[in-house]
Amino acid sequence: MTSLELITQSPEATRALGRRLGELCVGGEVVLLHGNLGAGKTVFAQGLALGLGVSPEEPVVSPTFLIHIQYQARLTFNHIDAYRLLGKADTSFLAIDELIDNQGVMAVEWAEYLGNDIPHKRLEVTLQLCGEDSRLLRLEPRPAADQHYTALLDALAEHHP
Ligand code: ADP
Ligand code: MG
Repeated sequence: MTSLELITQSPEATRALGRRLGELCVGGEVVLLHGNLGAGKTVFAQGLALGLGVSPEEPVVSPTFLIHIQYQARLTFNHIDAYRLLGKADTSFLAIDELIDNQGVMAVEWAEYLGNDIPHKRLEVTLQLCGEDSRLLRLEPRPAADQHYTALLDALAEHHP
């Protein structure tokens, strides 16, 4: 499918969704996370990390001050928070393209701040607050018809009817 929308009613549910997505990843995936502060981008990334095999003991936090944190697991997890890139014309120091390979999965919070460095093929995830504990999540592949990501969404929807 070319887009999947669902509502979670707790941080645990958002984490579980991220985890299922992580479990379905085979390497090379790029997940761009959009949403305001507190929308749940980090919570989703925590689930993703779990699904990639990062130890539950390992704290996954917003890498706001470090911008990029890497975790070794079944697949390398590259967690980026682009918030501090706002206003920076040149973000090439991140070497985003070099971080995308078949042994790793990348998740970027505040991905809109990547500017020109936004990877062409990616899964866009937008989280929206719709109540204290409820969030609307919209998942969309880019390009919209990308085969790998549309198949991923099919599999995700099967687990989450
Ligand atoms: P972001 O990284 O987008 O700034 P965080 O993931 O750090 O946001 O924080 C989300 C906050 O919202 C957490 O305190 C979490 O417990 C809370 N929360 C409440 N309901 C949900 C939900 N359904 N999904 C995700 N987080 C939720
Ligand atoms: Mg965050």
